[in-house]
Amino acid sequence: MEFINEVKINSLIEDKRLHSVDLQKEIILKAKYAKGLSIEDSAALLNISDQQILEQLFSTAREVKEKIYGNRLVLFAPLYLTNLCINNCLYCSFRKDNKEIARKTLTLDEIQQEVKFLVEQGHKRLLLVCGEHPKKASMDFIGESVNAVYQVNVNGSNIRRVNINTAPLSINQFKELKSFGIGTYQCFQETYHYETYLKMHPDGPKKDYAWRLYAMDRALQAGIDDVGIGVLFGLADYKFETLSMLLHADNLDKRFGIGPHTISIPRLEPALNAPAANQPPHAVNDIEFKKLIAVIRLSVPYTGIILSTRERAELRRELFNIGVSQISAGSRTSPGSYKNGNEQKAEQFQLGDHRTLEEVVKDCCQLGYMPSFCTACYRSERTGDRFMQLAKSGNIGKICTPNAISTFQEYINDFLLDGSCEIAEDFLQNEVEKLEDNIKTKTENMIKRVNDGEKDVFF
Ligand code: SAM
Ligand code: SF4
Repeated sequence: MEFINEVKINSLIEDKRLHSVDLQKEIILKAKYAKGLSIEDSAALLNISDQQILEQLFSTAREVKEKIYGNRLVLFAPLYLTNLCINNCLYCSFRKDNKEIARKTLTLDEIQQEVKFLVEQGHKRLLLVCGEHPKKASMDFIGESVNAVYQVNVNGSNIRRVNINTAPLSINQFKELKSFGIGTYQCFQETYHYETYLKMHPDGPKKDYAWRLYAMDRALQAGIDDVGIGVLFGLADYKFETLSMLLHADNLDKRFGIGPHTISIPRLEPALNAPAANQPPHAVNDIEFKKLIAVIRLSVPYTGIILSTRERAELRRELFNIGVSQISAGSRTSPGSYKNGNEQKAEQFQLGDHRTLEEVVKDCCQLGYMPSFCTACYRSERTGDRFMQLAKSGNIGKICTPNAISTFQEYINDFLLDGSCEIAEDFLQNEVEKLEDNIKTKTENMIKRVNDGEKDVFF
């Protein structure tokens, strides 16, 4: 665990020199070049307290995000497969000591019914989520579930990328997971603070800090190119967690030549019989949350930042502006709840944004963000270092923007049939007009193919 050196991280947090306003301004200027930041620079930016400098930090994060990702926001939904769990995480209602939760593992048939519901909303990307359970969340079950998801097809609409958030696996299990045809493998360290980690995970396999910390190393060794890391904010000091997560990203980059594909930033939400969730030991307020997101954006400009519906709609709107590049929409957090309605007695935690996918899509357009349903990269083998090279060469927009436009056009044609798609159509047309000539022609061809009824048009 040498790369999470608590003494070094704490000394950065306590270093008075890193509170200098002049230094912070200088780092913000440097960050505009989107080349990333050193850990000392990130620590200095996390210390910003002056309102004016904070605004400069936010506007620079916005600039960098736009430079790399344009105005696209990739949309997805989580799909909970089982809430059975042998761990006892003090912040999660799925913990084994919670006797009041209604336990449920979906059958393959139920999974397909959930997927059908999500496909009919217009979703193309899913994140499969499960508790940790040797039988109910076994490799075989995960494999069969991924397969069941990909089989659902509703008039040509289907799920085209399945990401997965599940307990850490061995190298051989990761090889098997890769063979299922998944996109990103996600696993959050929850807290990098060792003592807090042990306190929060009193029993079960999850109490092994190092096994979790090195999960991504094993996944990359097994050939899974796209991995997603994260912190559950609220368990330990947010500066410590942010710096540790950046050190984790840096360590992966150094060892494997690719950093994490995504970083997730869940904040603790209230959850049934989960003492740490209902009284977060280090609650992160909205300003701190915005600041840490901006710092992550500037520190690792090419890493996607994922925001879930844990956060309320108004705050989510502000965070799109600061660096978030992927969002969930229309989510539910208990197994079977898409088809049967949310069962509060079975959900993992309370959500802050209850809007449907359609409401979120329209809101994005009104705010100037392009909803993207693109799932092209991993199917075109643009994963891992190939994706990073593309991003770093500044060419990501040439591929991603046309793909976002064609998938959004497909969404409008198939799912916004109530005459209220004017906002979306106008928005899309405007986006096409902004393109350079050669890309514009290509994109118009793609739109034409979509309007002629072709599905899944991408390059
Ligand atoms: N069981 C697996 C694990 O723990 O890695 C994967 C799925 S777990 C359901 C997904 C994530 O939910 C956890 O990694 C944790 O960060 C998050 N989570 C748990 N309880 C939460 C809460 N009360 N509020 C917000 N997020 C929570
Ligand atoms: Fe189980 Fe994951 Fe919840 Fe912990 S966070 S209790 S491991 S589902």
